[in-house]
Amino acid sequence: MSEVNPDAIADRVNQIRTSISSQVKLVAVSKYTTTDAIRAAYDAGVRDFGESRVQNAKLKQEELADLSDITWHMIGSLQSNKARAAIAQFDWIHSIDRLSLAEQCDRLIFELKKSPKLLLQVKLADDPSKSGWSESELLADLPKLAELQNLNIAGLMTILPLGLDQDQAFTLFSRVGELAEKMRSLGWNNIHELSMGMSADYAIAVTAGASIIRVGTQIFVA
Ligand SMILES: *Cc1c(COP(=O)(O)O)cnc(C)c1O
Repeated sequence: MSEVNPDAIADRVNQIRTSISSQVKLVAVSKYTTTDAIRAAYDAGVRDFGESRVQNAKLKQEELADLSDITWHMIGSLQSNKARAAIAQFDWIHSIDRLSLAEQCDRLIFELKKSPKLLLQVKLADDPSKSGWSESELLADLPKLAELQNLNIAGLMTILPLGLDQDQAFTLFSRVGELAEKMRSLGWNNIHELSMGMSADYAIAVTAGASIIRVGTQIFVA
């Protein structure tokens, strides 16, 4: 891995910040990078960091314990045997992608007395490589999800399939917003967060209503 250049990281953070509304939360995805690079982004004002592996994140969190106001986001798919650690370690989990995981988190949150904000991961286009609920699957599971009273479900997350053009990406992101609206009309009043957009497509995601973008490469690798 190349040496960390704090000025370059700060420049890229500032470039992204100036291109989006201050209402949009920037999660710097640090899964491939070092704690030195995370410190550089922190010094540039970033407080939200995203990791995709629980164990790898734990090492970084321990090394960065002095930066006590970091908000940690779990964005990677979560195996059931990692759910306990994820709830203990993260402030947000973006990748609740199945009912069984939601049910497990409900029990663990009660037990651990720690309640991260949760996002339900949806995929509104066929994509065998990604997990998540389709719209019809999610609507079918809502009654069961509603029974899980310990969950603090704050919104939806999506990852688009590769290879879409801008119009297709905009359409799919917009449909996630429409699904959130449909959920609110069904009584899910807290579904306000839309976590969507990565390095390649965050600008489109923001125009389609993203409230959180998850950007790794463009901050740390570009
Ligand atoms: C890695 C990852 C990102 C960041 O992707 P970049 O293209 O590096 O910006 C965002 N979201 C999820 C779920 C990821 O796994």
